[in-house]
Amino acid sequence: MTQTVNFSEQLSLRARALLHGLGAAVPEPGPLPARTPISGGVLLSLAVDAPVDVDAAIGRAATAFETWRTVPAPVRAGLVRRLAQLLVAHRDELAELVTLEAGKIGPEALGEVQEMIDVCEFAIGLSRQLYGATMPSERPGHRLMETWHPLGVVGVISAFNFPVAVWAWNTAIALVCGDTVVWKPSETTPLTALACHTLLRRAAVDVGADPAVHQLIQGDASVGAALVDDGRVALVSATGSVRMGAAVAPRVAGRFGRCLLELGGNNAAIVAPSADLELAVRGIVFAAAGTAGQRCTSLRRLIVHRSIADRLVERLAAAYSQLPVGNPLDDGVLVGPLIDERAFAAMQKALVGSVAEGGDIICGGERIETLGPDAYYVRPALVRMPGQTELVREETFAPILYVLTYDELDEAIAINNGVTQGLSSSIFTLDQREAEQFLAGSDCGIANVNIGTSGAEIGGAFGGEKQTGGGRESGSDSWKAYMRRATNTVNYSTELPLAQGIHFG
Ligand code: NAD
Repeated sequence: MTQTVNFSEQLSLRARALLHGLGAAVPEPGPLPARTPISGGVLLSLAVDAPVDVDAAIGRAATAFETWRTVPAPVRAGLVRRLAQLLVAHRDELAELVTLEAGKIGPEALGEVQEMIDVCEFAIGLSRQLYGATMPSERPGHRLMETWHPLGVVGVISAFNFPVAVWAWNTAIALVCGDTVVWKPSETTPLTALACHTLLRRAAVDVGADPAVHQLIQGDASVGAALVDDGRVALVSATGSVRMGAAVAPRVAGRFGRCLLELGGNNAAIVAPSADLELAVRGIVFAAAGTAGQRCTSLRRLIVHRSIADRLVERLAAAYSQLPVGNPLDDGVLVGPLIDERAFAAMQKALVGSVAEGGDIICGGERIETLGPDAYYVRPALVRMPGQTELVREETFAPILYVLTYDELDEAIAINNGVTQGLSSSIFTLDQREAEQFLAGSDCGIANVNIGTSGAEIGGAFGGEKQTGGGRESGSDSWKAYMRRATNTVNYSTELPLAQGIHFG
């Protein structure tokens, strides 16, 4: 026990040092604990923003918008460019803080910071490409065109599992689009949020921009709710569970605000008889066990052709038995901790439930108690199921991979689509006809061939259908969600012809 206390104290000291290195002041103690899933201990504690603070933060962002919207987009990109430089300079410190707060292994935490840098670069390029279309007018001497304009204050609500990348996806693009941002991070990861906020404000000072373009509010769902209900917030971009989206969407709609929802997934991969099994096993293990199954795109359902199911399960079980689970700060560890006790309880409940529904736990699921009573390390579980039962259709945010079998590809695609979520999907096959049939048939926002369901690049639009919320973030033309479109008709003739040939008077 003493050893655990000492270990948690060490981690707390490390968090302080990292904040210092990132230029952020160690926060005054308050009612919001910043825990580390590595030991289960408290790193630091922070104040929670009261409704009056949230109101003031939104007010500051709304005032800053009035000026920021008039700055030319390529000039606004200067702020994002400076942020990217600071992220490069502080990459290791920020990544380590992600590991401390979210429990990600080093390479994944570094990857998350790299994703921030990537999206900044994307946004900088985008600042000269916020294109509007010009279309032929039906009237002589007229020009018809669409122009894109800054939207207003964007409220960003983010989840614990990508504590910094999701913020960057939204913020880098919102800023070049001329919006200002109020960020409500997960209450589970307040320190990484503080670090990002500090870096962005420093970038603003460095380039002579108004630091008020970014506001940070800290606290739980009630703090997020204040953002949701405020009519000054033009767009609420919310990432988290379906439950959160179901609470947020009607409230924003009730005040005719805009919502961008990135909610839960229940992602599947089909493994066809022609699949390269060696490659499939590698792809499946990363997608299902990586980040301890705590990615929105984590692989949760494996739909395997009956003819190869036994062989594949055997190989997966062998690969699972080799997975190093433990302290994510240690080199070589591939599976870090679950975020908290609640996540562990949900995993155990799902495992018990799956057995009750006729499932067979092939391996994993057990807790490894090494780094303290409040740290939850588990072996990723592989469970064979008789079919797509009620439990399999739910998202359990933990490393459980359910294995189902199929006979015909149509049936496999129907199983893939037979859940309420629609985020990510993939197929392992060397048969082009099967691959194309799957790409046309999957109802998800992401459909891959010969790679797993997770690990998206920033260049493509990210998001999913159905209860995943329909939002798209990051690459492609996702920027349009952060701007408003105006259709302009310009008459450069001396006549006033009406559309549809209407004669008036
Ligand atoms: P969560 O829904 O518990 O919390 C997410 C955020 O929403 C937090 O900041 C929380 O404080 C806030 N929140 C919750 N209820 C709210 C309400 N009623 N009003 C306003 N704010 C509210 O999710 P989590 O446990 O942090 O993250 C895991 C979930 O997020 C999983 O379901 C995962 O699939 C999903 N997720 C989705 C994506 C995606 O891009 N689709 C990305 C990451 C995580």
